[in-house]
Amino acid sequence: MKPSTLVTHPPQVTVPEDNRPLVAPVYQSVKFTFDDVDETKRLAHGEREGFWYSRKTNPTLRQLELTLATLQGRDACLVTASGAAAVNLSMLALCKQGDHVICFAEMYQPTRQMIRRVLDRYGVRHTLLSIDDIDGIEHVLATTPTRLVVFESPTNPVLKVADIACITALARKHGALTLLDNTLAGVHNHARFDVDVFVHSLTKYVSGHGDVLGGAVIADHTIIDSMRADMAILGATLDPHVAFLMQRGLKTYFLRYERQCQNAMALADYLASRPEVLALRYPGLKSHPQHDLARAQQLDFGSMIAFDLRRGPSAAKKFAEALGLFSITASLGSTESLVLPPQLLQPRDFTARQRSWSAITESTVRLSVGIEDSQDLISDIEQALTASGVSTP
Ligand code: PLP
Repeated sequence: MKPSTLVTHPPQVTVPEDNRPLVAPVYQSVKFTFDDVDETKRLAHGEREGFWYSRKTNPTLRQLELTLATLQGRDACLVTASGAAAVNLSMLALCKQGDHVICFAEMYQPTRQMIRRVLDRYGVRHTLLSIDDIDGIEHVLATTPTRLVVFESPTNPVLKVADIACITALARKHGALTLLDNTLAGVHNHARFDVDVFVHSLTKYVSGHGDVLGGAVIADHTIIDSMRADMAILGATLDPHVAFLMQRGLKTYFLRYERQCQNAMALADYLASRPEVLALRYPGLKSHPQHDLARAQQLDFGSMIAFDLRRGPSAAKKFAEALGLFSITASLGSTESLVLPPQLLQPRDFTARQRSWSAITESTVRLSVGIEDSQDLISDIEQALTASGVSTP
């Protein structure tokens, strides 16, 4: 072999069966080869196991998919390039022209926009309700044949808790599928409910470190198998190296999530003691309107807190800017604490009624609590309340 051939076809190194790596290697290969054309055809016809092209799947992706499916209590999963891709590809794969979808004002804005702007262009109609409006959900299901109910729990950013047992039972009764964006609750929550399809932004708690984007659709294999063909064509596949980083993130998922929940509870207790804080929402607080429901359906209460600040929007903006340990930025669930001031939370496309459902006011602040020391975080909030003038009588 000449050097130029050698570097293109490097020597194969095989690892003996009884001498395995402790950490699974990354299959950073787009293509998988066969020596035999007939075997290649058998794979294409689903007659044997194997891999061909990583846009469809890959051993590293498959390992992550198996882990996530087990955590979420289903038997199949497919991973995508972002959480938005998981949400949107599921809706595209599940709906066709003429279908009707129920969605909610309290949902992540891009999901709503996908339904209102994109699905609408392809002839999928929708009804937008409040997640609190169980009578409304039942009425629409009873009067309009519905393909899909798309919802979240807890909702982002004001942490309303959806009654999952009730919503899934109503959907089942009327022949609709349910799609739950379970990002805020995490992959370990809600498995016992009769949800047809879970979607997650892995960018948040699974990656945990704020350095990679990814998403997952988790469901029974009959649903995932039928989606997989569409997904492979649509092409928003996760990169194998990112899948490896997600799998690595999962090793500390429970440690991080537990610590974040403990920190969030401590901060929520502190905020509850402050007179400047109004409409405090943390599902772990007894004062949360759906605390009992959260207790009954979640294993823990998450790392997100929302509240209003008494002195209004400009004081809330100064408060966010005065925080030293909370960074003003998008996303949630990472090791670092984050804050979003009201100026960056306002939905742009709401009627007054929908705005009141959303419970986002001009003074709403959202915190995503990280894994720092809780006393340091509390001291930071305390100094920011003073520095921003929020505490001034
Ligand atoms: N779903 C929820 C509830 C989210 O909060 C987000 C992002 O913030 C997404 C989906 C989209 O995830 P990604 O940013 O990974 O596309």
